[in-house]
Amino acid sequence: MSDNVVEIFEDKCIECGLCVQACPADALDLEGGPVQVDADKCAANGECVEVCPTEALALDTEEDVDDKTKETKEKEELPPELQQYKGVWVFIEQVQNEVAPVSWELLGEGKKIANDLDIELSGIVLGFDAHDIAHEAISYGAEKVYLIDDPVVKNYRTRPYTEALVKLVNKYKPEIILLGATTLGRDLAGAVATELETGLTADCTILEVDHATRHLQQTRPAFGGNIMATILCKKHRPQMATVRPRVMEMPKQDRSKSGEVIEEEVHFDENNIKTEVLKIIEETKKAIYLDKADIIVAGGRGVGDKEGFELIKELADVLGGTVGASRAAVDAGWIPVEHQVGQTGTTVRPKLYIAAGISGAIQHLVGMERSDTIVAINNDSDASIFDVATYGIKGDLFEVLPPLIEEFKKELAVNS
Ligand SMILES: Cc1cc2nc3c(=O)[nH]c(=O)nc-3n(C[C@H](O)[C@H](O)[C@H](O)COP(=O)(O)OP(=O)(O)OC[C@H]3O[C@@H](n4cnc5c(N)ncnc54)[C@H](O)[C@@H]3O)c2cc1C
Repeated sequence: MSDNVVEIFEDKCIECGLCVQACPADALDLEGGPVQVDADKCAANGECVEVCPTEALALDTEEDVDDKTKETKEKEELPPELQQYKGVWVFIEQVQNEVAPVSWELLGEGKKIANDLDIELSGIVLGFDAHDIAHEAISYGAEKVYLIDDPVVKNYRTRPYTEALVKLVNKYKPEIILLGATTLGRDLAGAVATELETGLTADCTILEVDHATRHLQQTRPAFGGNIMATILCKKHRPQMATVRPRVMEMPKQDRSKSGEVIEEEVHFDENNIKTEVLKIIEETKKAIYLDKADIIVAGGRGVGDKEGFELIKELADVLGGTVGASRAAVDAGWIPVEHQVGQTGTTVRPKLYIAAGISGAIQHLVGMERSDTIVAINNDSDASIFDVATYGIKGDLFEVLPPLIEEFKKELAVNS
């Protein structure tokens, strides 16, 4: 029997035709007698074998299958020079020596991966006067920190950051590099992966490892959130991923932890760097930073219209929080898309999430269910939002919200 062809026992065939219907490759034919297989088309995927009522079809023997698995494994095996790549690296993102919290979240996640693969977790710090950041990275779980402390990398610029990271990677050969899926992280990761000629998955929301192959399983929403794609980088190293902020858990900081800071030098040539940072403009208060908010008051279709959102805004203001929304409310044009929480919006993890008039569709839940405390207000007691709520209020939001706002005003003495 040749490889990739299903075996047929003609004497058992009752010519029922079920296998012909089941074959996705159109490789089987019943014309003029027992079933026949077209060897060029057959992929031996076994669907015909499963439906055959008389066991007239069979797949390769176990021995053949084992040989094939071995062959596939051999094909999948990394070239020897790439097998030396070891360690999980997390890029510690800083702007004006303030670290993006996603970097610490990634150290927490990186630790799990490093433990799974029995390898070391390291942080990468690029900046100026950044020794404190290196030590902070250790307190969040890095065993080693590679530090480039140089005025040239004080502020982010794609060219010198890429040059520095590529140099470190080529010297120390990490197996996995994680960066936050921030504006900076996305810019840098793309440039570094291109230079290293390796694979990068952007905007991941789930990371897992396959122990047998050591592949990082990088899962991210794709096609506008319609599918979750799990992507592997089988033939290249390092495996690179950017990860959405607030998806991974923040690890506990332990300042008593010790680790090694390895200072490296890169001889940058300013003449080769085409960009110059003239000014860094502070975030304006008006901007929406849902992923950083501690308190979010979100409204959905139940809010009814644009005016209804004034009530949501009022409660958010009283609590010093930010306004969130479901996609239904955004699609209806009641609130801009920057406020959207969920699979195709922002993932949030506030201390308090108040959901008013939101049913709790899965695409909304995945963006907020990790909030510390969830309060749901809905007039339908069967709404799925109550399944994830810490506290639920069944009622009309137009009746529930005004007294709530008044009570909070009194309690917090805000806006009074
Ligand atoms: C690919 C894809 C991606 C998506 N991405 C997102 C996403 O990122 N974020 C997102 O939110 N959705 C997303 N969706 C849409 C999602 O499936 C839901 O359609 C959406 O979340 C529903 O929003 P909603 O809960 O506001 O509206 P509905 O499901 O219509 O729920 C309204 C709720 O309000 C309640 N209600 C009505 N009136 C009142 C009242 N007076 N007082 C109290 N309660 C009241 C109702 O009982 C109901 O439970 C996505 C969908 C797809 C297919």
